[in-house]
Amino acid sequence: MAKKTIANVDVAGKKVLIRVDFNVPLDENGNITDDRRIRMALPTIKSVLERGGSLILMSHLGRPKDAPDPKFTLKPAAVRLAELLPGVKVEFATDTVGDDAQAKVAALQAGGVVVLENLRFQPGEKKGDAEFAAKLASFADVYVNDAFGTCHRTDASMVAVPNAMSGKPRVCGFLVEKEIKYLTDAISAPQRPFIAILGGAKVSDKIMVIKNLLGICDKVLIGGAMAYTFSLAKGGKVGSSLVEPDKVDLAKELLAEGGDKLVLPLDVHCGDAFSSDCNKVVVASGEIPDGFEGLDIGPKTAAKYADIVKDAKTVVWNGPMGVSEMPPFDFGTRTVAEAIAASDAISIIGGGDSAAAIQKLGFADKVSHVSTGGGASLEMLEGKKFVAVELLDEA
Ligand code: AMP
Repeated sequence: MAKKTIANVDVAGKKVLIRVDFNVPLDENGNITDDRRIRMALPTIKSVLERGGSLILMSHLGRPKDAPDPKFTLKPAAVRLAELLPGVKVEFATDTVGDDAQAKVAALQAGGVVVLENLRFQPGEKKGDAEFAAKLASFADVYVNDAFGTCHRTDASMVAVPNAMSGKPRVCGFLVEKEIKYLTDAISAPQRPFIAILGGAKVSDKIMVIKNLLGICDKVLIGGAMAYTFSLAKGGKVGSSLVEPDKVDLAKELLAEGGDKLVLPLDVHCGDAFSSDCNKVVVASGEIPDGFEGLDIGPKTAAKYADIVKDAKTVVWNGPMGVSEMPPFDFGTRTVAEAIAASDAISIIGGGDSAAAIQKLGFADKVSHVSTGGGASLEMLEGKKFVAVELLDEA
């Protein structure tokens, strides 16, 4: 069901509380090393300011232990936001719901912004505490969720705050709108052939994704180390590859369930050590010699997967095909990324390592959507419903 967005709300003269994801990486001196998450929130932020609203922005940063910790202050994010919004008054509140936050919110004028201190400095955030949430809720007339990376969580700012604002508009920002559009809408009514490519280290992390996508895709292509657990399940030899022996039964179940839909690698690029300069050999799947481990899909598999992608109308990709951070074992991941970039299909890249690979290869603008949330995008691909999204107003 489509959700209402901030574009549907009259914000003139209103105070708008946005849950953003300003969880930016900082170096040891507290400098932001990548401000992408702040820049990505700008469309929602500007849309409110340009229409005469004022903003209260709340976010977490890092993992402070339920108490203020200068290492995790959001001040650098507020400073960076001010640089990105020339001419806009951006204030930083030195607490989250305390005296300073209350005073700055009370003094807020149309077109102005207050960034609250890190939500996780308050124990109530992780606990979903109603009293803490009520204080945040009292700050504003409108609630916006634009923090996709935390949408699978039930922290106070994601659930208790909008619950406390029942009766007022509670909508999604443009970032969350786009994530939902691609990770649920495009998948629930896909253009076919619909191909999923799943890789990464462990089959256990992606069981539910494989199960859900087997139900809706035309083919699910498997790469990464998780392919070796499937190999074991088929009685193959995996040498010293990374495997999950306790997941073999489950792999057998998925093989039975998937039938021809579940596509496994034909060949494997192996090494006799986990390093770039190890001795290498390419063998057929299930025939990895002792003393060798699988580190990437082999060239035949890479070509086959690229070929399947060529004919696809919708592609979802999550997880590298091999140890993509260690050339030459990045070949499979690169080949798949190139095929997706070259295709006209609706292409959706799950967060985490595959998103990083697409960015690194410079293909981010050649795909339809690169998800901003690792855990959240996986859970959405599992077909899970998020409380934090469900409670938002219907369009
Ligand atoms: P995930 O977080 O599950 O998406 O897994 C990503 C990690 O899986 C990356 O760090 C890869 O290096 C690793 N990986 C992928 N294929 C292999 C492999 N064949 N052997 C060991 N690690 C792998």
